[in-house]
Amino acid sequence: MRLQKPESLKVVEILYKRMPFNSALAEEYFVVRKGYEGERKFYDLTSQKGFPMIVLHDVLLKKSGTAQIDFIVIMATRIYLFEIKNFEGTIHHKGDDFIKNNYKLDRNPLNRAKNDFDILDGILRANRVRIPAEWKLVFINGNFTLYGHQPEVPILLLPQLEEFFEKMAKTSAPLTNYHYKIAHLIRNSRPESNLYKSDYKYDYESLEKGIWCDKCEPTKMINKHRYLKCSGCSKTEPKIDGVERSIAEFKLLFPGKKLTARILKDWCGNMIGETFSRCVIKEMDRKNNS
Ligand SMILES: [Zn+2]
Repeated sequence: MRLQKPESLKVVEILYKRMPFNSALAEEYFVVRKGYEGERKFYDLTSQKGFPMIVLHDVLLKKSGTAQIDFIVIMATRIYLFEIKNFEGTIHHKGDDFIKNNYKLDRNPLNRAKNDFDILDGILRANRVRIPAEWKLVFINGNFTLYGHQPEVPILLLPQLEEFFEKMAKTSAPLTNYHYKIAHLIRNSRPESNLYKSDYKYDYESLEKGIWCDKCEPTKMINKHRYLKCSGCSKTEPKIDGVERSIAEFKLLFPGKKLTARILKDWCGNMIGETFSRCVIKEMDRKNNS
């Protein structure tokens, strides 16, 4: 299985291509993409072990608070929560603080992982799940040093991962229907809309409209009347494919905002007509209501 992009990355990618260059947004894009590369590395290393397990990625949870969890791994006798950080360089862990170049990190990753775990644990307990759960904050980058690391704190550095996999192997056994029910329960505990809020403020009016190529972003598709063609890689596609991609982008950026035929036509850079736009919206409503 290929790891899907998390919602946070999708949101920033859409903003990045639909907004004029902005250094704060570029920085956010870089940070989020780097985080995803770390998650992919962790996922590849874990998958290689071949344990019977259910891996849930980029899990959003809601219960007396909200959580965004990088990975929940369900194994036969243990449930693991992993928060992945792809930091490079040197960080000092002193008391409750993480300090880099004499500056305290804004968001304490350990506290965040602990909060996320408490929310997951609350959901598992409320549903009387009998399998114990534990959590780890994983620093996945090989060019990372952590000073002040206390062994009792649930942190794993890259060189410690292999040893931890050996521990995980001991909780491994064939999965049953019960484990899939737990996965289902966790998936169903997500909030209705995405939680990720970009640090960068945006509004509908200021974003560039159009349909972008999904192969060589950020190149726009050109309207060829009956189909769309990319000016970069020459890919062609039926109009509906590009429109569906644009609808998905709209929903991610503006959860809760009603998409009308007029807005859809505008959002696609007027590359579709009124009638086509109305048909797409009608079909979308029909699917949503069935
Ligand atoms: Zn292209």
